[in-house]
Amino acid sequence: MLRIFKLVNLLPTIHKIVLALLLSISLIIILLPSEEAQASRQTPESQLQTAESQLQPNTLYSVPLAFRTPEPPQKESLSSKEVDQKVQLVEPEAKTPQLQQGELFKVRSGDTLARLFKRSGLTSREVYEITQLSLAKKNLLKILPGEDIEIFKDLDNRFAKLRYIIDPINTLVISKEDDKYTQKLDKKQIETRTKFATSEIKTNFWNAAVDAGLTPNQIMQLAGLFTWDVDFALDIREGDSFALIFEQKYADGDFLENGNILAAEFINQGDRYTAVRYSNGQYYSETGRSMKKAFIRSPVDFTRVSSNFNPRRLHPVTGRVRPHNGVDYVAPVGTPIKATGRGKVIASSYNKYNGNYVFIKHNDTYTTKYLHLKRRKVRKGQSIKQGQIIGTLGSTGRVTGAHLHYEFIVNGVHRNPRTVKLPKSDSIHRKQKADFLKVSRVLMAQLEHNKQLHIARAPSLSSETANN
Ligand SMILES: [Zn+2]
Repeated sequence: MLRIFKLVNLLPTIHKIVLALLLSISLIIILLPSEEAQASRQTPESQLQTAESQLQPNTLYSVPLAFRTPEPPQKESLSSKEVDQKVQLVEPEAKTPQLQQGELFKVRSGDTLARLFKRSGLTSREVYEITQLSLAKKNLLKILPGEDIEIFKDLDNRFAKLRYIIDPINTLVISKEDDKYTQKLDKKQIETRTKFATSEIKTNFWNAAVDAGLTPNQIMQLAGLFTWDVDFALDIREGDSFALIFEQKYADGDFLENGNILAAEFINQGDRYTAVRYSNGQYYSETGRSMKKAFIRSPVDFTRVSSNFNPRRLHPVTGRVRPHNGVDYVAPVGTPIKATGRGKVIASSYNKYNGNYVFIKHNDTYTTKYLHLKRRKVRKGQSIKQGQIIGTLGSTGRVTGAHLHYEFIVNGVHRNPRTVKLPKSDSIHRKQKADFLKVSRVLMAQLEHNKQLHIARAPSLSSETANN
């Protein structure tokens, strides 16, 4: 049966009706005693094997004339001369099996579509006709080196079909049948799944996140969610942990890309912080408080700070732990320094102790100070936004090594920026609150459930999320 099917594929393109007829005839042959089937063969065995060896599974081939029964439809029957030609066409296929098989043509640098088509052996008329199609105009004229265009020809070496992968979701397909062109975009089905990941921190947050299978982009996103709550540069400790649920997009079952983080939990020195994504794209704590607060915890990006854990901060000058008005961040010279809150620059200057320094007044209560900068990027009187770069880390003033000295002042008194009580952030709008809490409860329950599963089978670091 399989053999008959394969043989069916040998011959040149014929009208569909003929194909259908021939298929049914083939079936009859199968049902007849095998002697008759053998007798109907006209092709030498050796030629058959050559032909079969180049056939590919799952490909539609035409019925070989040699295997037709004596009653093909008159109109479509070919003269014996034509038959010879067809049989001969089979031979070169053994060396270059591109007939009826798609052949990939790679776009070379400096290639134009016309040049690539020419290389593929299309006639200038075919090139012209294809480039007149609107989807071809829109997509094929923008081909880039390294991309592939797959071209299928019929056994007469005429253009039959073209496939061009525009992006992981869309494929352009142009086909020609009976001298008529059709064009379409094949769209893959996008499916969103959720995935759970968790990890406990042993050396630093980044490594733990990598262990949990997160990408650099996801690590930054996760840290970004808690940037108002956690100082990722200085306050991460061994035993801190995090867990999150995020989206993954699949195109026809193949992984495409990671999507949004839907829910996350971060436990930092015993304090638990949560973030839940709402349909407006904003994140709120599980109880519906905005993640955004008046101050971010760290003026320096955690990826730039050299030490993993720094529980005993040595003064950069004396080398001793001593009472200290601020927090020191040791990072490479030139590291960008961010304003931790919005406000107004009340000083941007230089003296021999502070080096280059910037002071920002946020309101009547809060002021922040940034010392020893290499460069200042703001001037006195300037209004600045939260997170705006105000300068770069340096070693100006009375220091021995490059670091940022950061002070957080509340009503004129120096406070520890990590432990200081700050005003509560805004709540989600009360009209959305009930709906948000519903979403939040489901996601946080899912997170908790997956954490329990994770603890139960400790070795695996992440898994598909299980729904409760
Ligand atoms: Zn200091």
